[in-house]
Amino acid sequence: MANRITKGCAMFLRVDKLQIELPAPQRQDPNAAAALQELLGGKYGEMSTLGNYMFQSFNFRSKDKLRPFYSLVAAITAEELGHVELVSNGVAMLANGPDSDADETPGGDISGAPFEDMKDIRLAASFFSGGGGAMPVNSNGQSWNNDFITTTGNVIFDLLHNFHLECGARLHKLRVYESLTDPTGREVCGYLLVRGSVHAHAYALALKKLTGVEIEKMLPTPNIPLGNIPECQKYLEEGAHRRLYTFSPSDYKELTAVWGGEMSLPGDPPGELEVVDGMPEGGKIHQLTGIPSAFAPDYAPEEMFEISQQLYQAARR
Ligand code: MN
Ligand code: MN
Repeated sequence: MANRITKGCAMFLRVDKLQIELPAPQRQDPNAAAALQELLGGKYGEMSTLGNYMFQSFNFRSKDKLRPFYSLVAAITAEELGHVELVSNGVAMLANGPDSDADETPGGDISGAPFEDMKDIRLAASFFSGGGGAMPVNSNGQSWNNDFITTTGNVIFDLLHNFHLECGARLHKLRVYESLTDPTGREVCGYLLVRGSVHAHAYALALKKLTGVEIEKMLPTPNIPLGNIPECQKYLEEGAHRRLYTFSPSDYKELTAVWGGEMSLPGDPPGELEVVDGMPEGGKIHQLTGIPSAFAPDYAPEEMFEISQQLYQAARR
């Protein structure tokens, strides 16, 4: 079985966890969810980092001859897909409010405008069309699109673009962080600031290996150290700022040629950079409670839950 999963195929492996444990929101705040959308569908958001690295890795020329650089872009692609999932969960959690065991039985009274407040939220479509979920749009509801992807076939140019992209992502994250009070959104920003710093550092080191230019000396850009952000502390203490993951059971180990033999950035806790096989331990995905009067998940909830339970039991036998 292990061979079927790990050998000789280009594919993705999905694990049903978030990359970190997110604290539940303290209150429902759809406008905070809208702010967090910038980190998903904004120009420098996770859809952009994912799209750039994914297509660059697919299109990469001379993969075998440039293995460490191909592996770098390929492995970070997988991490970015996990970031898309993390931010999306953060958005939906903020839009929906604290974890709850609310009654999900159907038949709520819809005649008294139960969602009157929703007409005044900034991204009204996130409720009206999306049922309080995340969408690939920015904080103003503008669609993310292909124009945010650069894949030129020129390795230096693409790596330089990626360095710029990670610095841009850091800019987004700092500003969104400064706008949020709820722990859920702040945790998303804190973790992603640490990971974005790793990615900017990694692309800088890749460019240095190829050209000799010490681009990492520009970091951090923007110029605020992670140590000034409370939500970054536990990730710094566990060394997440020094770690790059292969996100693969057996591939992309050549990362060590780029992310190795160097130290963490000045200003961050000192230590050697390390490549970790596989992925972070991760955290649970919070449940999004059904909203009967908004017709989600609808049809016949109790019947659906019962059918699902029976199928689940049968599958376990
Ligand atoms: Mn990211
Ligand atoms: Mn990144």
